[in-house]
Amino acid sequence: LEEALRQSQKMEALGQLTGGVAHDFNNLLTAAQSNLQLLSRHLAEEGRRYLGGAAAALERAEKLTRQLLSFSRQEAVNPTVIEVGHALRQMEDLLERSIRADIALDWAIADGPLAVEVDPVQFELAVLNLVLNARDAMPMGGRIRISAAPGAQPDTVDIAVADTGRGMPPEVLARAFEPFFTTKPLDKGTGLGLSMVYGFARQSGGGAEIESSPGQGTRVTLTLPATAKPLPAASPAPSAAPAAAR
Ligand code: ADP
Repeated sequence: LEEALRQSQKMEALGQLTGGVAHDFNNLLTAAQSNLQLLSRHLAEEGRRYLGGAAAALERAEKLTRQLLSFSRQEAVNPTVIEVGHALRQMEDLLERSIRADIALDWAIADGPLAVEVDPVQFELAVLNLVLNARDAMPMGGRIRISAAPGAQPDTVDIAVADTGRGMPPEVLARAFEPFFTTKPLDKGTGLGLSMVYGFARQSGGGAEIESSPGQGTRVTLTLPATAKPLPAASPAPSAAPAAAR
């Protein structure tokens, strides 16, 4: 529990730090830019050219900090009541296409409505991230199990993605949720997958946990608060579009 608490504090601190620094930087950059503009009025042709170079660099810096800001800020959420089993089943085609033929995907979804209130797009992204990580952990093939059931704690729903892959050594497990932490080659990993998953779970009022044994496999469990709110009335399914177009 202490470790989980530390982890969540660390994540929040990191987000705040990034956001705070980016925000201050943005203000400084804006100030520098407007001073350059004033300065340009007092300069001759050649001076203005140098100034143009400085202004372009500032503009690039501003763009970078804006990206940092949007990463650290909570993404706009669109809380919607979904039935977890149904939502997972709807992802089956997408997930099957995301893994390889030497990986079996199996399902253990408990009967009965498992309703949670989450941003449905983020929910899908979180599950997809977990399945892609599981795939990457099994270069020689294996099995991915997606499960959903009432949680161990009352009024919660547990959603888990388990694999039979390489597992995580303790030093990776300790840092896996950290943004930008990755053991993958630079062109493969961003280190943002699990931090996104964690952020999604926290934002939804729940949490995320990893169990992993090196050489045996990994299970990531999301515990989300169950909701008693009714499911929204059925609307025409957007995923009626051809699968290949998604
Ligand atoms: P990325 O996948 O871009 O590296 P993540 O935040 O999703 O970023 O994961 C961070 C690290 O955690 C990975 O680089 C990998 O070392 C480890 N990891 C994540 N999921 C698994 C898994 N299912 N099995 C083994 N290691 C994993």
